[in-house]
Amino acid sequence: MDLRALYPISYGLYIVGSRKGDKINAQIANTVIQVCSEPPTISVCLNKGNLTHEYIKSSKVFTVSVLAQDTPLNFVGNFGFKSGRDINKFENVKYKLGETKAPLVLEHALSVMEAKVVNEADAGTHTIFVGELVGAEVLKEGEPMTYAYYRQVKRGTTPKTAPSYVEQKKEKEADTKLAKYKCSVCGYVYDPSKGDPDNGIKPGTPFEKLPDDWTCPVCGASKSEFEKL
Ligand code: FE
Repeated sequence: MDLRALYPISYGLYIVGSRKGDKINAQIANTVIQVCSEPPTISVCLNKGNLTHEYIKSSKVFTVSVLAQDTPLNFVGNFGFKSGRDINKFENVKYKLGETKAPLVLEHALSVMEAKVVNEADAGTHTIFVGELVGAEVLKEGEPMTYAYYRQVKRGTTPKTAPSYVEQKKEKEADTKLAKYKCSVCGYVYDPSKGDPDNGIKPGTPFEKLPDDWTCPVCGASKSEFEKL
């Protein structure tokens, strides 16, 4: 069995939210799909260890925000590499409570929707929740973020099998003197030729010249967590 057969499956990138009583949480997920149009029904597949999973089990409602392609890395990192058990993910984030009283994240979202769970399937480490829509709203026009774009372009971790790898190799040749560094926590690669524009770091800035208080734009890890590639 060649599991690389799974690599070309395409996904989007979403924030999935829920609540437990008055407590709210949300996380990054790439597994939202529409499963039925009449009535409009969506599904999401979440890891059983995640706090949002626990909340959906409890309240039987969930929300989805479809992220735009230009969503900054640290916004994804806030919802994706941190747990609501440790931090309040909604501090400094624009959101509102929906009809289900679950949080709809509005920032960097093209559209938002909320659903009531009508079915669920045990998938080993994960649960697939099936939800009938009770609300949906378009916030703005734009390109949605895909999981491939996030991994290859935003995080800079282009697999050798990806079509964009050739372009990356060309860039490398033009920029051989500057080493890339990889975050040991989340796998983000700092590429000096790209810098970290979201955080005011200009292209061409070597890793060594980054300010001491610079942190990984994805997960917030400090410079010392980075390894030279
Ligand atoms: Fe990181």
